[in-house]
Amino acid sequence: MKRVAFFDTKQYDREWFDRIDKSFEIKYFEEKLNSENADLAKGFDGAIAFVNDKINSKTIKILAEGGVKILAMRCAGYNNINFKSAHENGLKVVRVPVYSPYAVAEHTMALLLTLNRKIHKAYNRTRDFNFALNGLTGFDLNGKTAGVIGTGKIGQIFIKICKGFGMNVIAYDPYPIENPDFEYVDLEEIYSRSDVISLHCPLNQYTHHILGADAFSKMKSSVYIINTSRGGLIDSEALLNALKSRRIAGAGLDVYEEEASVFFEDCSDTIVNDDILARLVSLPNVLLTSHQAFLTEEALKNIAEITIENLEDYFAGKPLKNQICYDCCNGGTTSNCG
Ligand code: NAD
Repeated sequence: MKRVAFFDTKQYDREWFDRIDKSFEIKYFEEKLNSENADLAKGFDGAIAFVNDKINSKTIKILAEGGVKILAMRCAGYNNINFKSAHENGLKVVRVPVYSPYAVAEHTMALLLTLNRKIHKAYNRTRDFNFALNGLTGFDLNGKTAGVIGTGKIGQIFIKICKGFGMNVIAYDPYPIENPDFEYVDLEEIYSRSDVISLHCPLNQYTHHILGADAFSKMKSSVYIINTSRGGLIDSEALLNALKSRRIAGAGLDVYEEEASVFFEDCSDTIVNDDILARLVSLPNVLLTSHQAFLTEEALKNIAEITIENLEDYFAGKPLKNQICYDCCNGGTTSNCG
Protein backbone atom coordinates (compact mmCIF):
# COMPACT_ATOMS: atom_id res chain seq x y z
CA MET A 1 0.00 0.00 0.00
CA LYS A 2 1.23 3.51 -0.88
CA ARG A 3 2.11 5.74 2.06
CA VAL A 4 1.77 9.50 2.37
CA ALA A 5 3.34 11.76 5.02
CA PHE A 6 0.97 14.53 6.18
CA PHE A 7 2.79 17.59 7.57
CA ASP A 8 1.57 20.37 9.85
CA THR A 9 -1.44 18.34 11.00
CA LYS A 10 -4.19 20.07 12.92
CA GLN A 11 -7.09 18.21 14.52
CA TYR A 12 -9.59 19.77 12.06
CA ASP A 13 -7.54 18.51 9.06
CA ARG A 14 -7.30 14.98 10.38
CA GLU A 15 -11.03 14.82 11.13
CA TRP A 16 -11.86 15.40 7.44
CA PHE A 17 -9.02 13.36 5.90
CA ASP A 18 -9.86 10.34 8.09
CA ARG A 19 -13.51 10.37 7.01
CA ILE A 20 -12.73 9.65 3.35
CA ASP A 21 -12.03 6.16 1.98
CA LYS A 22 -8.67 5.96 0.23
CA SER A 23 -6.37 3.37 -1.26
CA PHE A 24 -3.27 4.73 0.51
CA GLU A 25 -2.20 5.14 4.10
CA ILE A 26 -1.64 8.55 5.73
CA LYS A 27 0.79 9.11 8.58
CA TYR A 28 0.18 12.41 10.35
CA PHE A 29 3.05 14.61 11.57
CA GLU A 30 2.50 17.80 13.56
CA GLU A 31 5.72 19.37 12.26
CA LYS A 32 5.58 21.99 9.53
CA LEU A 33 7.52 20.64 6.58
CA ASN A 34 11.01 22.14 6.24
CA SER A 35 14.55 21.00 5.53
CA GLU A 36 15.10 20.05 9.19
CA ASN A 37 12.34 17.47 9.26
CA ALA A 38 11.75 16.48 5.62
CA ASP A 39 13.48 13.16 6.36
CA LEU A 40 10.36 12.15 8.34
CA ALA A 41 8.94 11.39 4.88
CA LYS A 42 11.75 8.92 4.06
CA GLY A 43 10.25 5.78 2.57
CA PHE A 44 6.92 7.47 1.83
CA ASP A 45 5.55 7.75 -1.72
CA GLY A 46 3.97 11.17 -1.27
CA ALA A 47 3.72 14.12 1.09
CA ILE A 48 0.89 16.51 1.94
CA ALA A 49 1.86 20.06 2.89
CA PHE A 50 0.33 23.45 3.68
CA VAL A 51 0.76 27.20 3.22
CA ASN A 52 3.53 27.93 5.72
CA ASP A 53 5.68 24.85 5.09
CA LYS A 54 9.16 25.80 3.82
CA ILE A 55 9.43 23.84 0.60
CA ASN A 56 12.79 25.17 -0.59
CA SER A 57 15.38 23.32 -2.68
CA LYS A 58 16.91 21.64 0.40
CA THR A 59 13.52 20.34 1.58
CA ILE A 60 12.70 19.10 -1.92
CA LYS A 61 16.02 17.31 -2.32
CA ILE A 62 15.52 15.45 0.98
CA LEU A 63 11.93 14.52 0.04
CA ALA A 64 13.00 13.26 -3.38
CA GLU A 65 15.99 11.32 -2.03
CA GLY A 66 13.67 9.71 0.51
CA GLY A 67 11.43 8.38 -2.26
CA VAL A 68 8.66 11.01 -2.30
CA LYS A 69 7.41 11.46 -5.86
CA ILE A 70 4.41 13.69 -5.35
CA LEU A 71 3.77 16.69 -3.15
CA ALA A 72 0.09 17.44 -2.60
CA MET A 73 -0.55 20.95 -1.34
CA ARG A 74 -3.79 21.07 0.64
CA CYS A 75 -4.27 24.73 -0.30
CA ALA A 76 -4.62 26.96 -3.36
CA GLY A 77 -1.51 29.15 -2.94
CA TYR A 78 1.96 27.78 -3.78
CA ASN A 79 4.33 30.69 -3.22
CA ASN A 80 6.26 28.64 -0.62
CA ILE A 81 7.57 26.08 -3.15
CA ASN A 82 10.77 26.16 -5.19
CA PHE A 83 9.32 24.84 -8.46
CA LYS A 84 12.63 24.79 -10.29
CA SER A 85 14.01 22.42 -7.71
CA ALA A 86 10.81 20.30 -7.74
CA HIS A 87 11.14 20.06 -11.51
CA GLU A 88 14.83 19.12 -11.33
CA ASN A 89 14.18 16.48 -8.68
CA GLY A 90 11.22 14.94 -10.52
CA LEU A 91 8.77 15.86 -7.76
CA LYS A 92 5.27 16.51 -9.07
CA VAL A 93 3.26 19.17 -7.28
CA VAL A 94 -0.54 19.26 -7.10
CA ARG A 95 -2.84 21.59 -5.23
CA VAL A 96 -6.48 22.36 -4.46
CA PRO A 97 -7.21 25.26 -6.82
CA VAL A 98 -10.73 25.85 -5.53
CA TYR A 99 -12.21 24.62 -2.27
CA SER A 100 -14.48 27.44 -1.26
CA PRO A 101 -13.87 30.91 -2.61
CA TYR A 102 -17.01 31.83 -0.62
CA ALA A 103 -15.24 31.02 2.65
CA VAL A 104 -12.46 33.53 1.92
CA ALA A 105 -14.68 36.21 0.34
CA GLU A 106 -17.15 36.05 3.24
CA HIS A 107 -14.33 36.30 5.79
CA THR A 108 -13.02 39.34 3.91
CA MET A 109 -16.38 41.07 4.39
CA ALA A 110 -16.50 39.88 8.03
CA LEU A 111 -13.15 41.61 8.64
CA LEU A 112 -14.36 44.79 6.95
CA LEU A 113 -17.67 44.89 8.83
CA THR A 114 -16.05 44.11 12.17
CA LEU A 115 -13.35 46.72 11.69
CA ASN A 116 -15.70 49.41 10.41
CA ARG A 117 -18.52 48.85 12.93
CA LYS A 118 -16.12 48.01 15.78
CA ILE A 119 -17.93 44.80 16.67
CA HIS A 120 -14.81 43.40 18.36
CA LYS A 121 -14.74 46.38 20.69
CA ALA A 122 -18.48 46.32 21.35
CA TYR A 123 -18.25 42.60 22.22
CA ASN A 124 -15.58 43.24 24.83
CA ARG A 125 -17.40 46.27 26.23
CA THR A 126 -20.82 44.67 26.65
CA ARG A 127 -19.29 41.63 28.34
CA ASP A 128 -18.11 44.08 30.97
CA PHE A 129 -21.56 45.78 31.10
CA ASN A 130 -20.05 48.83 29.42
CA PHE A 131 -22.89 49.95 27.16
CA ALA A 132 -21.34 53.27 26.11
CA LEU A 133 -21.08 53.97 22.36
CA ASN A 134 -18.23 56.50 22.35
CA GLY A 135 -15.57 55.56 19.83
CA LEU A 136 -17.72 52.99 18.02
CA THR A 137 -18.81 55.15 15.07
CA GLY A 138 -18.40 53.52 11.66
CA PHE A 139 -19.53 54.55 8.18
CA ASP A 140 -22.20 53.25 5.75
CA LEU A 141 -20.72 50.90 3.18
CA ASN A 142 -23.61 51.80 0.87
CA GLY A 143 -22.35 54.25 -1.77
CA LYS A 144 -18.67 53.80 -0.83
CA THR A 145 -16.04 52.57 -3.27
CA ALA A 146 -14.36 49.19 -2.90
CA GLY A 147 -11.06 48.78 -4.78
CA VAL A 148 -10.41 45.12 -5.49
CA ILE A 149 -6.93 43.98 -6.57
CA GLY A 150 -7.27 40.60 -8.29
CA THR A 151 -10.57 39.56 -9.86
CA GLY A 152 -10.19 35.79 -9.83
CA LYS A 153 -12.49 33.39 -8.03
CA ILE A 154 -12.35 35.01 -4.60
CA GLY A 155 -12.16 38.58 -5.87
CA GLN A 156 -15.28 38.12 -8.01
CA ILE A 157 -17.31 36.74 -5.10
CA PHE A 158 -16.12 39.54 -2.84
CA ILE A 159 -17.21 42.02 -5.53
CA LYS A 160 -20.71 40.47 -5.55
CA ILE A 161 -20.87 40.78 -1.77
CA CYS A 162 -19.77 44.44 -1.95
CA LYS A 163 -22.43 45.11 -4.57
CA GLY A 164 -25.01 43.53 -2.24
CA PHE A 165 -24.05 46.22 0.25
CA GLY A 166 -24.63 48.93 -2.38
CA MET A 167 -20.93 49.68 -2.87
CA ASN A 168 -19.36 50.91 -6.12
CA VAL A 169 -16.63 48.55 -7.20
CA ILE A 170 -13.46 49.35 -9.09
CA ALA A 171 -10.87 46.69 -9.75
CA TYR A 172 -7.39 46.03 -11.07
CA ASP A 173 -6.22 42.79 -12.67
CA PRO A 174 -3.68 42.33 -15.50
CA TYR A 175 -6.03 39.61 -16.84
CA PRO A 176 -9.48 41.26 -16.73
CA ILE A 177 -12.62 39.14 -17.02
CA GLU A 178 -14.99 39.64 -19.94
CA ASN A 179 -18.13 41.77 -19.50
CA PRO A 180 -17.51 42.83 -15.91
CA ASP A 181 -20.31 44.54 -13.99
CA PHE A 182 -17.68 46.74 -12.34
CA GLU A 183 -15.05 49.16 -13.62
CA TYR A 184 -11.45 48.13 -14.32
CA VAL A 185 -8.97 50.90 -13.50
CA ASP A 186 -5.20 51.08 -12.96
CA LEU A 187 -3.61 50.75 -9.55
CA GLU A 188 -3.17 54.52 -9.18
CA GLU A 189 -6.94 54.96 -9.42
CA ILE A 190 -7.54 52.10 -7.00
CA TYR A 191 -5.35 53.95 -4.50
CA SER A 192 -6.84 57.40 -5.00
CA ARG A 193 -10.56 56.51 -5.27
CA SER A 194 -11.11 53.61 -2.87
CA ASP A 195 -12.68 53.76 0.59
CA VAL A 196 -11.78 50.11 1.07
CA ILE A 197 -8.97 48.22 -0.70
CA SER A 198 -9.07 44.44 -0.69
CA LEU A 199 -6.28 42.18 -1.97
CA HIS A 200 -7.20 39.01 -3.91
CA CYS A 201 -4.16 38.45 -6.15
CA PRO A 202 -1.51 35.76 -5.71
CA LEU A 203 1.88 36.47 -4.17
CA ASN A 204 4.64 36.35 -6.77
CA GLN A 205 7.63 38.42 -7.88
CA TYR A 206 5.32 41.06 -9.41
CA THR A 207 2.95 41.41 -6.48
CA HIS A 208 5.44 41.23 -3.59
CA HIS A 209 4.88 44.43 -1.52
CA ILE A 210 2.32 45.66 -4.03
CA LEU A 211 1.12 47.82 -1.13
CA GLY A 212 4.06 49.75 0.32
CA ALA A 213 4.89 53.30 1.40
CA ASP A 214 4.40 54.74 -2.10
CA ALA A 215 0.95 53.15 -2.49
CA PHE A 216 -0.14 54.23 1.01
CA SER A 217 0.93 57.82 0.24
CA LYS A 218 -1.59 57.93 -2.65
CA MET A 219 -4.60 56.65 -0.70
CA LYS A 220 -7.41 58.45 1.09
CA SER A 221 -6.60 58.84 4.78
CA SER A 222 -9.98 57.22 5.52
CA VAL A 223 -9.20 54.00 3.61
CA TYR A 224 -9.40 50.53 5.16
CA ILE A 225 -7.04 47.88 3.79
CA ILE A 226 -8.16 44.25 3.92
CA ASN A 227 -5.77 41.40 3.13
CA THR A 228 -7.01 37.82 3.05
CA SER A 229 -4.63 36.82 0.27
CA ARG A 230 -0.96 36.55 1.26
CA GLY A 231 1.06 38.52 3.82
CA GLY A 232 3.91 39.33 1.43
CA LEU A 233 1.60 41.49 -0.69
CA ILE A 234 1.95 44.21 1.95
CA ASP A 235 5.16 45.76 3.24
CA SER A 236 4.31 45.36 6.94
CA GLU A 237 6.69 48.02 8.18
CA ALA A 238 5.27 50.55 5.72
CA LEU A 239 1.75 49.51 6.78
CA LEU A 240 2.61 50.04 10.43
CA ASN A 241 4.05 53.48 9.67
CA ALA A 242 0.98 54.43 7.61
CA LEU A 243 -1.31 53.35 10.45
CA LYS A 244 0.73 55.08 13.17
CA SER A 245 0.82 58.35 11.23
CA ARG A 246 -2.92 58.02 10.38
CA ARG A 247 -2.01 58.06 6.65
CA ILE A 248 -4.65 55.29 6.40
CA ALA A 249 -7.58 54.51 8.69
CA GLY A 250 -7.21 50.84 9.48
CA ALA A 251 -6.38 47.33 8.38
CA GLY A 252 -8.05 43.93 8.56
CA LEU A 253 -5.44 41.22 8.10
CA ASP A 254 -5.93 37.48 7.83
CA VAL A 255 -2.39 37.01 6.58
CA TYR A 256 0.94 38.52 7.59
CA GLU A 257 4.34 38.59 5.93
CA GLU A 258 6.13 36.81 8.76
CA GLU A 259 3.22 34.64 9.82
CA ALA A 260 4.95 31.27 9.33
CA SER A 261 6.33 30.87 12.85
CA VAL A 262 3.28 32.16 14.74
CA PHE A 263 0.02 31.74 12.82
CA PHE A 264 -1.96 28.53 13.41
CA GLU A 265 -0.17 28.13 16.78
CA ASP A 266 -1.05 29.07 20.37
CA CYS A 267 1.69 31.56 21.31
CA SER A 268 -0.23 33.00 24.27
CA ASP A 269 2.39 31.78 26.73
CA THR A 270 5.44 32.95 24.81
CA ILE A 271 7.09 36.30 24.14
CA VAL A 272 6.49 37.03 20.47
CA ASN A 273 9.74 38.43 19.08
CA ASP A 274 8.23 40.08 16.02
CA ASP A 275 7.94 43.75 17.05
CA ILE A 276 6.01 44.75 13.92
CA LEU A 277 3.40 42.08 14.57
CA ALA A 278 3.22 42.98 18.28
CA ARG A 279 2.71 46.66 17.41
CA LEU A 280 0.10 45.88 14.74
CA VAL A 281 -1.84 43.73 17.22
CA SER A 282 -1.75 46.58 19.74
CA LEU A 283 -3.30 49.18 17.43
CA PRO A 284 -7.01 49.93 17.92
CA ASN A 285 -7.62 50.18 14.17
CA VAL A 286 -6.09 46.82 13.26
CA LEU A 287 -7.97 43.55 13.30
CA LEU A 288 -5.98 40.37 12.88
CA THR A 289 -7.12 36.81 12.29
CA SER A 290 -4.70 33.95 11.98
CA HIS A 291 -5.07 32.82 8.34
CA GLN A 292 -8.54 31.49 9.09
CA ALA A 293 -10.42 32.84 6.06
CA PHE A 294 -10.54 29.33 4.55
CA LEU A 295 -11.81 27.69 7.74
CA THR A 296 -15.35 26.56 6.99
CA GLU A 297 -16.74 23.03 7.04
CA GLU A 298 -17.36 23.16 3.29
CA ALA A 299 -13.79 24.22 2.59
CA LEU A 300 -12.23 21.57 4.86
CA LYS A 301 -14.35 18.85 3.26
CA ASN A 302 -13.41 19.98 -0.26
CA ILE A 303 -9.72 20.29 0.65
CA ALA A 304 -9.65 16.71 1.95
CA GLU A 305 -11.63 15.30 -0.99
CA ILE A 306 -9.61 17.06 -3.70
CA THR A 307 -6.22 16.36 -2.07
CA ILE A 308 -7.08 12.67 -1.79
CA GLU A 309 -8.37 12.60 -5.37
CA ASN A 310 -5.14 14.28 -6.57
CA LEU A 311 -3.07 11.57 -4.88
CA GLU A 312 -5.35 8.72 -6.05
CA ASP A 313 -5.00 10.02 -9.63
CA TYR A 314 -1.21 10.06 -9.34
CA PHE A 315 -0.98 6.58 -7.84
CA ALA A 316 -3.35 5.27 -10.57
CA GLY A 317 -1.22 6.88 -13.31
CA LYS A 318 -4.07 9.17 -14.39
CA PRO A 319 -3.55 12.74 -15.71
CA LEU A 320 -3.11 15.28 -12.92
CA LYS A 321 -5.73 17.96 -13.43
CA ASN A 322 -4.51 20.02 -10.49
CA GLN A 323 -0.80 19.88 -11.21
CA ILE A 324 1.25 23.06 -11.06
CA CYS A 325 4.17 22.84 -13.44
CA TYR A 326 7.52 24.57 -13.40
CA ASP A 327 6.92 26.38 -16.71
CA CYS A 328 3.65 27.90 -15.50
CA CYS A 329 5.20 29.20 -12.33
CA ASN A 330 8.53 30.28 -13.73
CA GLY A 331 7.81 33.99 -13.76
CA GLY A 332 4.26 33.69 -15.04
CA THR A 333 1.03 34.36 -13.25
CA THR A 334 -0.92 31.54 -14.83
CA SER A 335 -1.63 29.23 -11.96
CA ASN A 336 -2.57 25.92 -13.51
CA CYS A 337 -1.13 24.07 -16.46
CA GLY A 338 -3.80 21.41 -16.43
P1 NAD B 1 -7.38 33.13 -8.67
O1 NAD B 1 -6.19 32.53 -9.31
O2 NAD B 1 -8.74 32.66 -9.06
O3 NAD B 1 -7.36 34.71 -8.83
C1 NAD B 1 -6.21 35.49 -8.70
C2 NAD B 1 -6.39 36.69 -9.60
O4 NAD B 1 -5.29 37.57 -9.36
C3 NAD B 1 -6.39 36.33 -11.10
O5 NAD B 1 -7.52 36.91 -11.73
C4 NAD B 1 -5.10 36.94 -11.61
O6 NAD B 1 -5.20 37.40 -12.96
C5 NAD B 1 -4.95 38.10 -10.64
N1 NAD B 1 -3.60 38.66 -10.62
C6 NAD B 1 -2.44 38.08 -10.99
N2 NAD B 1 -1.43 38.96 -10.89
C7 NAD B 1 -1.99 40.12 -10.48
C8 NAD B 1 -1.47 41.43 -10.22
N3 NAD B 1 -0.16 41.70 -10.38
N4 NAD B 1 -2.31 42.38 -9.80
C9 NAD B 1 -3.64 42.14 -9.65
N5 NAD B 1 -4.19 40.93 -9.91
C10 NAD B 1 -3.37 39.94 -10.30
O7 NAD B 1 -7.13 32.92 -7.10
P2 NAD B 1 -8.22 32.95 -5.94
O8 NAD B 1 -8.73 31.57 -5.72
O9 NAD B 1 -9.18 34.06 -6.17
O10 NAD B 1 -7.28 33.28 -4.69
C11 NAD B 1 -6.66 34.53 -4.55
C12 NAD B 1 -5.62 34.45 -3.45
O11 NAD B 1 -6.27 34.21 -2.21
C13 NAD B 1 -4.65 33.25 -3.59
O12 NAD B 1 -3.54 33.60 -4.37
C14 NAD B 1 -4.26 32.93 -2.19
O13 NAD B 1 -3.02 33.56 -1.93
C15 NAD B 1 -5.34 33.60 -1.32
N6 NAD B 1 -6.06 32.65 -0.46
C16 NAD B 1 -6.11 32.91 0.87
C17 NAD B 1 -6.81 32.05 1.72
C18 NAD B 1 -6.92 32.31 3.21
O14 NAD B 1 -7.34 31.42 3.97
N7 NAD B 1 -6.62 33.51 3.68
C19 NAD B 1 -7.43 30.94 1.20
C20 NAD B 1 -7.36 30.72 -0.19
C21 NAD B 1 -6.67 31.58 -1.01
